[in-house]
Amino acid sequence: MIFDKVFEIYKKYYICIHCLGRMFSLLGTNTTNFDRGNSLLLSITMENHKNYLSGNDFLKKEAVTNLKLLAENANYLPAQKVLDNEGLDYTKNHSIQLCYLCHDIFSNIHNYIIKAGQSLDKIEFDSFLIGSSPESLIINQEDKFKTEFNLLEGESFKSHFNRVVGKDLMITLNKTPEFNNPDVLIIYTFGFEANEVEIVIKSLFIYGRYNKLIRGIPQTHWFCKNCMGRGCELCNFTGKQYSTSVEDLINPEFIKESKATDSKFHGAGREDIDVRMLGQGRPFILELRNPKIRNLDLTKIERKVNKINRKRIKIQNLRYSNKKEVIKLKTEAKNTKKVYKAIVKTENKISKEFFKQKLIELKKVFENQEIHQQTPYRVSHRRADKIREKRIYKIDGKLIKPNLLEFKIETQGGTYIKELINGDEGRTYPSFSELFEMPLLCKELDVLEIST
Ligand SMILES: [Zn+2]
Ligand SMILES: [Zn+2]
Repeated sequence: MIFDKVFEIYKKYYICIHCLGRMFSLLGTNTTNFDRGNSLLLSITMENHKNYLSGNDFLKKEAVTNLKLLAENANYLPAQKVLDNEGLDYTKNHSIQLCYLCHDIFSNIHNYIIKAGQSLDKIEFDSFLIGSSPESLIINQEDKFKTEFNLLEGESFKSHFNRVVGKDLMITLNKTPEFNNPDVLIIYTFGFEANEVEIVIKSLFIYGRYNKLIRGIPQTHWFCKNCMGRGCELCNFTGKQYSTSVEDLINPEFIKESKATDSKFHGAGREDIDVRMLGQGRPFILELRNPKIRNLDLTKIERKVNKINRKRIKIQNLRYSNKKEVIKLKTEAKNTKKVYKAIVKTENKISKEFFKQKLIELKKVFENQEIHQQTPYRVSHRRADKIREKRIYKIDGKLIKPNLLEFKIETQGGTYIKELINGDEGRTYPSFSELFEMPLLCKELDVLEIST
């Protein structure tokens, strides 16, 4: 019998109406724990009030005992009023009683709402989710309590707290709670004494395409190999291996506008430091971490970045993106087709006729064929040593000078073009050098096109 359980509880502990309702949370639906608790206490009060009025002495005596218990131990106002009206005495408990289970956390929920509101000040978001981590004392005490009274239909402190705070915040902030991927996560850490709120802001992802118009800068920020970014004599105390990078040129404006703490650059593959990225540009996604502003004027940022970096880099096609697309960008990079322009130096001078003949042979050997590339020497320190098969789609070429050639090569993403030309001492086969029967050297390389 639920009523008996309520008496058992209040004979031993004072708990607030919210917590009483929580102990029976799985019973009855479409209501709140407070209403559940209040309904229980009110029903018991009514039942005993009726028995008191029944005229049966035995029932009347029992009713007074019960009403007193509710008035004194549960501090329940309707029971107190009934006793007052009937002119019956009970001990008025003026000392402030704290709920044994929550220390009145549920009666003071507005404090938690205010605190979150302050922490969210000047942060732009549309959706949120509440998380909480009550200290173990609270959880353990409640577990013991439930065992002591054999309460099997209760809900956890955490889910009760999260729901109540979430509901209030939804109204106060006029924002929607969202379980999957909310813009902000509001995490409460609390004990009986103190509480803290931490705001975790979802990263903002911006997609775009970049051109690298100069040689000599890497795609992403490289920390100095000697000091790992702390700053040393070798790097002139910049902490950087290269003075700048595509990433370093692009991200400051985004960080500034979004008020992010930092950012991470995700490229769809990367070109070598000495390779330019021309044409429509290479897709990238910039991840802005902890952005306080989520609604950016992307056109304005694009214009500004391009103005500051004129003739160095250029960005275009900016739009909002997400984490899923970052994964797609990374996994699909090897499946894209790329078109390169290579300026190649030959060891010996060659004639027009010789070149013409070799170009025919090149097309025959390479077009729509696969080549084998063992990890080049120059990257072997950071890439696993293995043989990769890469497809070459199309080759075009012209003789610029007797010892200078220009090739346009269409290949599968991830092909090492410099090695395709020089052969990498036999590690790439077949190679242009092999076919020309003389050493060839790729002097300049540009990416002209990346198809996605
Ligand atoms: Zn309570
Ligand atoms: Zn250094």
